[in-house]
Amino acid sequence: MVARVIPVEDFDLVIFGGTGDLARRKILPGLFRRYLSGQMPVESRIIGAARSDIDSDGYRTMIKEAILEFGGEESQDSNGLDAFLAQIEYVPIDAKGEGGWVELAELVRNDVVQAFYFSVAPSLFGDLAERLHRHKIASATSRIVVEKPFGRDLESARKLNDVLALHFDEGQIYRIDHYLGKETVQNLMAVRFGNVLFEPLWNNHYVDHIQITVAETVGVGGRGSYYDKSGAMRDMVQNHLMQLLCLIAMEPPSQFGADEVRDEKLKVIRALEPIMPHHIVRGQYENSANGPSYREDAENPRSHTESFVAMKCHISNWRWSGVPFYLRTGKRLKARTSEIAVVFKPLGHSIFEGQEEQQNILAIHLQPNEGIDLQVTIKEPGPGGMRLVNVPLDMTFAEALGDSDVEVTDAYERLIMDVIRGNQTLFMRGDEVEAAWGWTDPIIEGWEARNDVPKTYSAGSSGPDDALMLLHRDGRKWREIKG
Ligand code: NAD
Repeated sequence: MVARVIPVEDFDLVIFGGTGDLARRKILPGLFRRYLSGQMPVESRIIGAARSDIDSDGYRTMIKEAILEFGGEESQDSNGLDAFLAQIEYVPIDAKGEGGWVELAELVRNDVVQAFYFSVAPSLFGDLAERLHRHKIASATSRIVVEKPFGRDLESARKLNDVLALHFDEGQIYRIDHYLGKETVQNLMAVRFGNVLFEPLWNNHYVDHIQITVAETVGVGGRGSYYDKSGAMRDMVQNHLMQLLCLIAMEPPSQFGADEVRDEKLKVIRALEPIMPHHIVRGQYENSANGPSYREDAENPRSHTESFVAMKCHISNWRWSGVPFYLRTGKRLKARTSEIAVVFKPLGHSIFEGQEEQQNILAIHLQPNEGIDLQVTIKEPGPGGMRLVNVPLDMTFAEALGDSDVEVTDAYERLIMDVIRGNQTLFMRGDEVEAAWGWTDPIIEGWEARNDVPKTYSAGSSGPDDALMLLHRDGRKWREIKG
């Protein structure tokens, strides 16, 4: 089954920071794939706007090289690429000064969907918003897209929200968390709310615990100086892991609409109990045969920044009371994998004497391969009596739908098309972001006040031993980190 392509309206998309790493690696290759699938109307335009003093031809050359490097197999379609590039323009612009704004105002049409992607440092958000407004480029129907990090604590996030709110309504602001653009994250909602099977079991009567793991094999090399001021809590937990937690734990919204979904996610964050210090483990990778230590990567020999966090959280509501949510994320771990595992309770009584107890597990895999599987207990085939074994019922959708052609759209391109359609469901609302910082701030402040030193772990391991103990103490164990 080839994915159905729903055309979007004619648009002008301005990418501030259009020469930057994110634009070249993700945004433009993603837009090219949407172009090839027929989703970009011929009149639509992409306008790069950045500091580099180049012209549109120079920009097209830069983007062509980026697409050839990062665009995957599709980039070999040279006819398609030239036609796509013909829809791209460039304006040199100074976000903090006046250069380029008159030219941009002349270029952007006001009778099509207008989207402005702020792929620049957050310190420029206010300058861009103010100039878009002052030069009458943006209107009440324009959309702006902003990137992470959305603040580094509640206070800075509030300031960013306030500065954007001076010129744009909440309904115009699209805060990207690319985890929400993943096919499987949306599939998780389809599985939960489109089947009668799961929802009755989705509570503290049947769920033993939930594990969310986002493990990376890479270190912080390259972005060490940025990361050292941030750490895993700010860089991963406050946004990606908390968003996944919200989706798995939220009540069914009345409909699949932006505010309905986001209202339910917000309620989850508000119901999170403050975390106890002994329910959280910070880690930092040591040097090993595999490579340098975190401190070497960050070029900070005394750094106390965490490259790993594991924690046990509780949600104070009727559905989840008593069910632990174990979250962990880290760099330079054993394998690159992101998954959510819903571990159901063991049977109250087993009729199969002498057989090891098996638990049903619904595992939602986000990375490296997207898919969902349900571990069920069956009889091991063959003679020799009743031996039980847990096997996965694989719901990886490409296989299930019987065609390897099913297009797994990259998160960025899906989200950008949602911006053009005006669908905010998969974007974070301002109050959600603030509530998430409101929960993580006291944890980070506690570490700072105690001058907490992270536990070390070897590169290529599953993290510090204390993280294993976090579950061991509860008579549980983490799922293996495997790619
Ligand atoms: P980058 O440093 O590679 O690019 C920055 C861009 O901003 C350049 O195009 C530059 O010309 C432009 N710029 C800087 N100052 C300007 C000014 N005064 N006026 C106009 N343009 C100006 O950064 P990046 O890695 O592309 O990241 C952009 C944003 O996206 C950042 O907020 C970053 O945190 C976020 N982000 C990046 C990634 C990634 O993978 N690169 C991932 C998630 C979020």
